[in-house]
Amino acid sequence: MTTPDTKPAEAAVPTNFVRQIIAADLAAGKNDGRVVTRFPPEPNGYLHIGHAKSICLNFGLARDFGGVCHLRFDDTDPAKESMEYVASIQEDVRWMGFDWQDRMFFASDYFERLYGFAVRLIEAGKAYVDHLSADEIREYRGTLTAPGRNSPYRDRSIAENLDLFQRMRAGEFEDGACVLRAKIDMAAPNIVMRDPTIYRIKHVDHYRTGQAWCIYPMYDFTHCLSDSIEGMTHSICTLEFENNRELYNWILDTLKTPCHPQQIEFARLNLSYTVLSKRKLIELVDKGLVSGWDDPRMPTISGYRRRGYTPEAIRNFCERIGVAKAASTVDIGLMEFCLREDLNKRTPRVMAVLRPLKVTIVNYPEGQVEELDAVNNPEDPGMGTRRVPFSREIFIEREDFMEDPPKKFFRLAPGREVRLRYAYFITCVEAVKDPATGEVTELRCTYDPQTRGGDAPDGRKVQGTLHWVSALHAAAAEVRLYDHLFSRENPDEADGGRHFTDHLNPKSLEALTGCKLEPGLALASPGDRFQFERLGYFCADARDCRPGHLVFNRSVTLRDTWAKIAKKEVGKKKGGVSGT
Ligand code: ATP
Ligand code: MG
Repeated sequence: MTTPDTKPAEAAVPTNFVRQIIAADLAAGKNDGRVVTRFPPEPNGYLHIGHAKSICLNFGLARDFGGVCHLRFDDTDPAKESMEYVASIQEDVRWMGFDWQDRMFFASDYFERLYGFAVRLIEAGKAYVDHLSADEIREYRGTLTAPGRNSPYRDRSIAENLDLFQRMRAGEFEDGACVLRAKIDMAAPNIVMRDPTIYRIKHVDHYRTGQAWCIYPMYDFTHCLSDSIEGMTHSICTLEFENNRELYNWILDTLKTPCHPQQIEFARLNLSYTVLSKRKLIELVDKGLVSGWDDPRMPTISGYRRRGYTPEAIRNFCERIGVAKAASTVDIGLMEFCLREDLNKRTPRVMAVLRPLKVTIVNYPEGQVEELDAVNNPEDPGMGTRRVPFSREIFIEREDFMEDPPKKFFRLAPGREVRLRYAYFITCVEAVKDPATGEVTELRCTYDPQTRGGDAPDGRKVQGTLHWVSALHAAAAEVRLYDHLFSRENPDEADGGRHFTDHLNPKSLEALTGCKLEPGLALASPGDRFQFERLGYFCADARDCRPGHLVFNRSVTLRDTWAKIAKKEVGKKKGGVSGT
């Protein structure tokens, strides 16, 4: 991302230790004042919210320090990578609002050069072909407390190594018959430095290079050299690579590459009630435990997009959580807060009834229809007003009526008067029941024609205001409500041998059919966002919503005041302090 007009980071952007390092480097005149970062996903899955943190960090640093950020696909493991993932990653980064311009790269484009670097290591006596099996290599490696042992193949001649490595490339050996290892130190305190494997044989087609290669470079070898080839100044990665930094530096130092980026590690994002490992997300998709990568319950960027999250909300979340060295878990409530904050400003309010209960207004003239004025967003008068039809039969929310209400229930009950938002005061005169089940099937109410617009000229007050939809005009819809995908706050935590999928929340999706929306919503397009008054923020589903078949996802609830009151009541009864 190029922003030549942007001054180096200053007070406005919240600082963090990575910014401080870069600012100090710039002040010291390092890298000729350049800042080059990269976001380096492996195209073996869809991006998740942890990747969003890395995207915001890397692209944000480039933006704020007048530098550039590359998008690089670290595609060295052919068995799991695909073009579908490459396409989804590009779409997600763009949607997040970042632009790599013409700086999209693939590690697989460097295969020939990487091979050349490996040959140079061999020529320098710093790499050798090893025939030990994977198990033997592990056994020879030693432990944290015991040094490793040298492989019997470690001291073969340079000429022999060059010949064998060339034959590995030519396909003379089966998978696993041998590997190329860096020759460093089998007694190194850092186990990563005990002659790490840098090339392995894999007779697998690569999604970009096809059958051109049957040997593939390992991540540690590829990553530092790709960074160097692209002229990175700062190579920012997550904490689990801290021990690998020594190897990163060893490879570049040993090969004396002209560019030697500085690796900086930060703590990865962990989110409560969520798993953020691609391996686990793939398992959820492959086992059909979710409907796909973009299932609105998934912590993927595509899942959040479909759920109705905005790029602004996600960027704001990434800004708020900050960047630190110490691992921690962020409360998923913070994401929801960031979303509400953004949607509150931008979404029009509409009325929708999710679990309809029919109300007949017995003194309202049959066949009459009125158009009533409704405000689109009380937060933003500029969003104007609209007209909603009112008639003799309406729907209200089933839970807005109670036959025998507890004390603090301020909604409708027999004999009680409430306000219909933007319409009239109504009073319940009768609850009609199914004689067989006793279930209330319809309410009969009267209205006060003097209260049009929602106020009584005699100044009398009502305690509740309900949303409603005219039965005659309502658009039918399916509405999907979501809860956390996992019922456990930390589904990753080891738990007596239970698998993380054992903690899936059976109530994470509730699909309601027969919902009634105000008629203007019949024209909603996929991706359109609304606040359904009193119910939350909703988004027309990008896959399933079409004219004549409306499907909405709840992106996030509003803060539920009734739940709070109920909680307080419980607190009081227990003699406890009323909570908030
Ligand atoms: P996972 O652990 O989920 O499988 P990964 O690290 O293998 O992810 P990559 O495609 O290699 O996935 O990641 C691309 C970039 O995103 C890397 O620089 C990685 O450090 C960063 N990244 C991955 N997960 C997180 C996370 N949870 N928080 C912050 N950054 C992350
Ligand atoms: Mg990885």
